[in-house]
Formats: sequence, structure tokens, C-alpha cells
Amino acid sequence: MNTKEIRQLFPILHQEVNGHPLVYLDSAATSQKPVSVIEAVKHYYERDNSNVHRGVHTLGSRATDAYEGAREKLVRFLNAGSAEEVIFTRGTTSALNLVATGYARSVCREGDEIVITPMEHHSNLIPWQQAAKATGAVLKYIPLQEDGTIRLEDVEQTITERTKIVSVTYVSNVLGVVNPVKEIAAIAQRKGAKMVVDGAQSTPHLKVDVQDLDCDFYTLSGHKMCGPTGIGALYGKRALLEEMDPIEYGGEMIDHVDLYDSTWKDLPWKFEGGTPIIAGAVGLGAAIDFLESIGLDEIDRHEKRITAYALERMSDIKDLNVYGPRSDRAGLITFNLGDVHPHDVATVLDAEGIAIRAGHHCCQPLMRWLQVSATARASFYLYNTEEDVDRLIASLIKTKEYFGHAIG
Ligand code: PMP
Repeated sequence: MNTKEIRQLFPILHQEVNGHPLVYLDSAATSQKPVSVIEAVKHYYERDNSNVHRGVHTLGSRATDAYEGAREKLVRFLNAGSAEEVIFTRGTTSALNLVATGYARSVCREGDEIVITPMEHHSNLIPWQQAAKATGAVLKYIPLQEDGTIRLEDVEQTITERTKIVSVTYVSNVLGVVNPVKEIAAIAQRKGAKMVVDGAQSTPHLKVDVQDLDCDFYTLSGHKMCGPTGIGALYGKRALLEEMDPIEYGGEMIDHVDLYDSTWKDLPWKFEGGTPIIAGAVGLGAAIDFLESIGLDEIDRHEKRITAYALERMSDIKDLNVYGPRSDRAGLITFNLGDVHPHDVATVLDAEGIAIRAGHHCCQPLMRWLQVSATARASFYLYNTEEDVDRLIASLIKTKEYFGHAIG
């Protein structure tokens, strides 16, 4: 399927915004949804809607099959060992909080270490800050190189025998850096630490194999990979999940309840208290089918092509500063246009129908490291074209002319 055909599958792309055809360059915040995902959710509500794991009736078993079927797709997609290792969550944020609360707080003691990097999204930073405060563990950072990459020598230095957990994003949502998480996991494990991978920005774009990465935990968000909002997952190695306590108690997750004590269901359900996000899981299953029908390798190749083209065109715009490495990067470009505030850049672009993101991108420590308060970001996905990039560049040139006085 070529990009033109792929675009036909995304109804939202075919509209005008502020009198211009929409150019959507904010997929790192959330991706758009193909018609097959929208239809799967619609079909579920029109035909199968019921609660899961309890109804004896036909709709109840259809809903359960649809929900557990989606889990099976995710197991295959990630190459997890079994369905016990894949827990549905609200997204990456709740998956990371589950590990930081359910696992880290029970294994960390005073003086132990939790290692992360300064490029982490707040979702992979604050849960560890809180776990460190609660346990007396020390939060340590792997330093960044000038271009925002990390060196394995520094990883070796930062992780010690006292490190219990290492948590690193696979792909930075600001720098576009693709971190060597497989190598970091190997170092962590050699030193006796557990490796957590924030996969929010990698899962939509790269072929992920959790057994090959040999990470202990891996997280993802459905809405960034063509699925609905409100659904995501935590992969964890079975032995670790067995050890871990749930953090949400209530219906669905129990085995036996007495007045003063209770026992839990087996994995993965002991972590899925309450009525789950059934339609979301169904939509995520359809998103996986969709991504697999295109091929993750093809998506990766397409994004690399578009990003290289955009970087080349941007290099012609004087005073446009791009952050992050020049090569080996993911399909997003974070930049500033001279001293023009990124919100102004995004506002001018929006008036031309172009959606980009502006702000701190939930990475305030990284903004301070970059010595800026905010940046603009254009992010690409399988439905973006070179013409989208041309529209972006033309509007950036216009913006530059408009704010000429602010540019040195
Ligand atoms: N980590 C990274 C690297 C992200 O880009 C995001 C989303 N911007 C998250 C975590 C949080 O994901 P969610 O909001 O879907 O929980």
C-alpha cells in the first residue's frame, strides 16, 4: 500500500482546518485512527457490548473473547512469552506507575538506586521520584551527550551493584533519540538491576520484541499506535509479575474474599481491577492488525525517509535550531525558530491548517538541559507525505518573515 492509499483509510485527514487542507504533524502526541479501528469499536458496541469474565450469556462470552483476543494479539505483536505477561492498563503512564508502585516500592531499600535519564517524559520520571522518596532510594541520572544521546560507558558507570531499577525511554519524544535499550538492559541485568523500557514512542514505529530486548518490563500506549485513547499495556516477565502486588483492589481481580482477607486471581487479571477498558482493547487489537498489515519495517522506512527530507529542508531555514542528533533518529523533529515563542509558531501554523505541538512536551528537566523553556515539534507517521513537509516548510518560512524582528 502506498501512502496515498494509506491516507484514504484515515477519515480525519480529509478535512479543511481554518480554510486549508489539514496537515497533521502531531502523531507523537496522539496518532490518528484508521477506519478499521473506528469500525471495530463501533461493531463492539453495536453487537457484543457486555461485561467480561462474568456473564454466562452469549454477549458476555463474546465480549470476553474480544477482550482476551486483543490481549493475544498484543502478546504476539510484542513477542511476549504468554498472555500472563501482558496486562491492560490505561496507557504508558499507568503502566509505569504500576511498576513504580507495585514493584519498586517493595524491592527498594534506603540507599538503593533507581537509574533513569534526563530525557525522560514526566511519566517515566515522577513515579520514580515518588518511589525513591517513599523508600529512601537514590534517583540517579545517566548523563546526556551534547546531541542528547547516551553512551554505554556512562551507563556502565551510573549503574552499580546498588541499582535496583533502570528505566529508560526507547525513543525520546523530544530529541528523537533511539536509545540502545537492549544493551542497557544487558548492563542492568549483569549488575543485578531490573530494566524498564518506556515504549510509548517506540511501539508505534519500530518492530519490538520484548524477549530479544530482554527487558523486565515494557510499556505502551494504544492511542499513539492508531488505537483508541484510554488503553495501553504493561509487559512484565512472569516471575516478576507473580512477585508483584496489585495496586488496585476491587471487582474482577479477586479469587476469594473474606471479611478480613482476600486472595487474588492469577496473572494477568490480578492487575486488572474493576471493569476493564473493553472497547479500547478491541480497538487496540484492530490497530495491531492494521499496523501488521502495513508492516512495522515499512512504517519505520517511510518515517525515516520523511524525517530525512524534513531535516534537509529545515537546514535551509536560517535561525531554525533543531534539537537532538542529526542521524539515527526517530520520526519527529523538535525545533525553535530563532526567538519566536513556539506557541506563536504553532498558532501561525494552525491558521494554515498545520497541526504541530508546542510546549515542554512533559519533559521539563530536558527543557532546562536544552536551556529553553519550550520548543515546537513536528512528528510524522505512516500517513504523512513529502507534501506535508513542503507545507510545513512554506509556513515556517512565512512565520519567520512575519516574526522577522525576533530572529537574530
Ligand atoms: N513516555 C513518552 C516517551 C511519551 O511520549 C508519552 C506520551 N507523550 C508518555 C510516556 C505518556 O504516555 P500516555 O500519556 O499515553 O500515558
